[in-house]
This record gives sequence, structure tokens and C-alpha cells, in this order.
Amino acid sequence: MSESKTPVFVCPEDQQAFAKVYEHADTASQLIAEHGTPPFPNTFALMYAYAAKSDNKVVVAVDEMLERGALCQYEIDEVYNLHLRPTDDHAKRENIGREVEQQLSSILDLVGTSMENSDQFEVALTEIERDLSDSSSSAALSSAVARLMSESRRMTDQSRRLSDGLMASMKQIERLQHELEAVRNESMRDPLTSIYNRRAFDLRVAAEVEAANKQGSSLCLVMADLDHFKRVNDNFGHRVGDEILKIFASIVTNNIKGKDLVARYGGEEFAIILPATGLQQATQLIDRIREQMSQRKLVLKGTKTPIGAITASFGIAQHQPGLAISGLIEQADQRLYLAKSNGRNRVQSDDLASNAA
Ligand code: GH3
Ligand code: MG
Ligand code: MG
Repeated sequence: MSESKTPVFVCPEDQQAFAKVYEHADTASQLIAEHGTPPFPNTFALMYAYAAKSDNKVVVAVDEMLERGALCQYEIDEVYNLHLRPTDDHAKRENIGREVEQQLSSILDLVGTSMENSDQFEVALTEIERDLSDSSSSAALSSAVARLMSESRRMTDQSRRLSDGLMASMKQIERLQHELEAVRNESMRDPLTSIYNRRAFDLRVAAEVEAANKQGSSLCLVMADLDHFKRVNDNFGHRVGDEILKIFASIVTNNIKGKDLVARYGGEEFAIILPATGLQQATQLIDRIREQMSQRKLVLKGTKTPIGAITASFGIAQHQPGLAISGLIEQADQRLYLAKSNGRNRVQSDDLASNAA
């Protein structure tokens, strides 16, 4: 980066920091130029984070992309969204937290006032008792009764205010709980297909592997990838590609149940977790999904031009006790790769290469 780009009015420490910033920006620009990806803000932000090594997950993800040579906009956006996109979850959660705090403080105020009131009531009772023992005149008696009545009316009002206030706060807290639940849910979903996202997958697969290890139950993991999807995008456009991703997600969703989970793992890659399912049962289920996808009659909206068959390939791995999550994913991935090299539109549940030409 040329000297002229360094701002003039900065202190020496800033100058050092800026030099680093320019260096990272240069590296990011070089990477973008090398791979011919337009420098959209997301792309630049991702490459900048990669150059600055500010987040190890970004470095690993970009290295993986570079290795696969898959530096396309979708992959970039995926990784950007996964690791760098500032989520509004955080702001939403903070707002909810603030509202809960307000509700708690109003409850404390109510309880405080109510306690003060009952203290005052007790003082009043002691005074009335003392007045009555000092004098037994009828005037003193009726004044004691009048005071008793007004004090108890005050107490009744106060306890009604307390219960109304508590009820209102409870309703607000219930609403906030629902909002929090919605934010939590949203942060686990893929916005395009509405199925779970990678974050949700990571959490669930860890929990299911742990459960399978503990209970000795069977667990299968499936990695799926749409076939020749680049071609689909090239021939029909990305919008059509997006619609097909939604269709695939809904076919899988309609075929799974209970504790099964399907997540969008990456661009046109999906992961399916099948707890309490043996390899044979999983293979049958996934083959049904494969068949339904390949048989789906797809036409362009409007012109009704047939799109032709869109297929997907699948790799299935069965969890073995002691196998790490990464090992399970890797095995399913390797089998997916085999399904591709064995001809695509296939379900691969072993490590055998096909003899078919
Ligand atoms: P293969 O059968 O080997 O999987 O071939 P492929 O073309 O599907 O695989 P490749 O990895 O070469 O290309 C994947 C393509 O998927 C590239 C990218 O444009 C597309 N893609 C990824 N995410 C999305 C998305 O969200 N929407 C659309 N429309 N396309 C996507
Ligand atoms: Mg593909
Ligand atoms: Mg792929």
C-alpha cells in the first residue's frame, strides 16, 4: 500500500495500527483479484478477516473454500453469514433483558410499598390497642373503630394494587419469554429454506452423539448435496436455484419425524441427523427422499418450461462408540463424495466404489 494512503493527523500508535489495516486490506484485495470475485462488502469483510486472522473459524472456513476452489458468491455469503454477519439477535436479546429488568424493578417497588404499608398497619394496630387500654369511653371506642376501618380499607386497596401490579408484570414477563424464544428460534434457522442452520446442526449433533454414546443407541448422519447445481443456476438463474433448494428442504422435512433434524449445512449441502435409526433403516428413508427429489416435476413459473430432473447425492455414516463428531461428519462426507464419483443421484452407506462405468 502506498505511503500517500496513510492519514496524516494520527498519533504514532494509531499509525502503526493503520499500517496493519492497510496491509490486511491489501491482502484481501489481492485474494479477491486472484479469484475474480467481485469485491462486494461481504466478500471484502470476509477476506479482510481472513487476512487479519481475526477469527480462527473464518481462517479455517476460507482455507477450506480456497482448497476446494469454491470461491463463489454463495459460499462467501454463507461463511460471512455464519461467522461475521452482525446478528440483530444480540440487540433484541439486550432489549428483552432490559425490559425484564424494568419489570423486576417494578415488582420490587410494589413489594417494597406493600411491606411498608403492612408495617404502618401494624403500627396503627398497636396505637389503637394502646388508645383503647388508656380509655374506655364510647368516644374513644368509636374513634378506634373508625381508624380501624380506614386502616383496613387502606390495606385492602394496597393489596389489590399489589395483585394487579403483579398480574400485569407477569403478563409482560410471559410476553418477553415468548419474544426471547422467538429470537432463539430465529437464530437457529436458515432464512432461505426455514430449516435449521449450521449453528443448530452443530449443537444438535453434539447432543445426539453424546446421547448415543451414553445410551448405546444407534445414530446415523447423512450429508446430502444437490447434483450439478451450478449448472442449474447457470441455465435457469439463481432465483430458480433458490426455489429448488426450498423444494429439497421441504421434501426432506416431509419425510423425517420426531427427533430427526435436517439443516442447511452450506450452499447446496444439507445434513440430516437420524437418532435411534439403524443404517439399513436410514438408507431406506434417504433413498425414498432421493427418489422423490429426482421424480419431482419442476417447471418454470409462468412459461411452464420444464426444468428437468434435479437430483441429489447422499452419504450416510453410522455413529460408532468413541467416534468423534468430526469423524462421523467426515465419514458421511467421504461417502457423499463416493456417491458423486459413483454417478450421483445415489445413496452411499458404505465405502465401496461402484463398478459401473
Ligand atoms: P456436484 O454435483 O459435484 O455437487 O456439482 P455442483 O455444481 O452442485 O457443485 P459446485 O460445488 O461446483 O457448485 C455448487 C453451486 O451451488 C455453486 C453455487 O452457485 C450454488 N449455490 C450454493 N448456494 C446457493 C444458493 O443459496 N442459491 C443458489 N441459487 N445457488 C447456490
Ligand atoms: Mg452440488
Ligand atoms: Mg456442494
